[in-house]
Amino acid sequence: MMELLTKLTKLLLNVNMVKMLKTILESFINIVYPPICVTCNKPNGLRENQGLICHECYYGIKRHIPPFCLKCGRGLNSLESISSGVCRGCAKKHYYFDQAYSMCVYDGPIKELIHRFKYNYKLQYKTVFENLLKEFLQSFNVLRDIDLIIPIPLHPVKLREREYNQSQILAAMASQILQKPVGSDILSRSRNTKPQIDLKEEARMKNIHGCFTVKNGDKVKSKQILLVDDVLTTGTTLSEAARMLKQHQPEKICVLTLAS
Ligand SMILES: [Zn+2]
Ligand SMILES: [Zn+2]
Repeated sequence: MMELLTKLTKLLLNVNMVKMLKTILESFINIVYPPICVTCNKPNGLRENQGLICHECYYGIKRHIPPFCLKCGRGLNSLESISSGVCRGCAKKHYYFDQAYSMCVYDGPIKELIHRFKYNYKLQYKTVFENLLKEFLQSFNVLRDIDLIIPIPLHPVKLREREYNQSQILAAMASQILQKPVGSDILSRSRNTKPQIDLKEEARMKNIHGCFTVKNGDKVKSKQILLVDDVLTTGTTLSEAARMLKQHQPEKICVLTLAS
């Protein structure tokens, strides 16, 4: 028994020693090679978001602030908010979703971060998005009443290429913060579409029309749905997904994206 105890003590001491050595080594590496900010490439001064992005870049990300456009959720200028409550881009537009919200303006450091997150397997950036999402949802106290979160799906072929669906990751984050479930078995992409980024608005609509299929539509009925995607630009993809879901009589469809 004593022998076993001595062995156990030695083992624990060894584990602690290894941990301590690891911390010392990491601090040493950080001094010699300070972590580089992913957006401005300078050594991080203040550590934000686990050292991924510097203080200046993080607070330099332009956030949308109220009043929000009653359609797309972009921050309105005073003239727009007085005249109609919707932004100039939305004045003549119809979306099938009821209200979108977006945390940031799609420009600068956030654009770069989202691009890397989506195409370069840089999953570690999700910490930055998580912080922005928390900040947004807690500051403006929106989307508290939703019942179910649905991510915009990727086509299975694209999912195999990219290995993960960025919208699914964002939906899981929103689910954690809002304490609402994610429905991943409802919306699927039955047709592999061309990337929307290279297309004009009319071509985008044509490209995306009819590409989504709804299964288990009864889960949507009379519910407040939150559709989640990384970016809202023209809103075509999200509107098309909402159009398909609307056929199953949800009470309301809101949208949440990182940037617009
Ligand atoms: Zn920076
Ligand atoms: Zn708008």
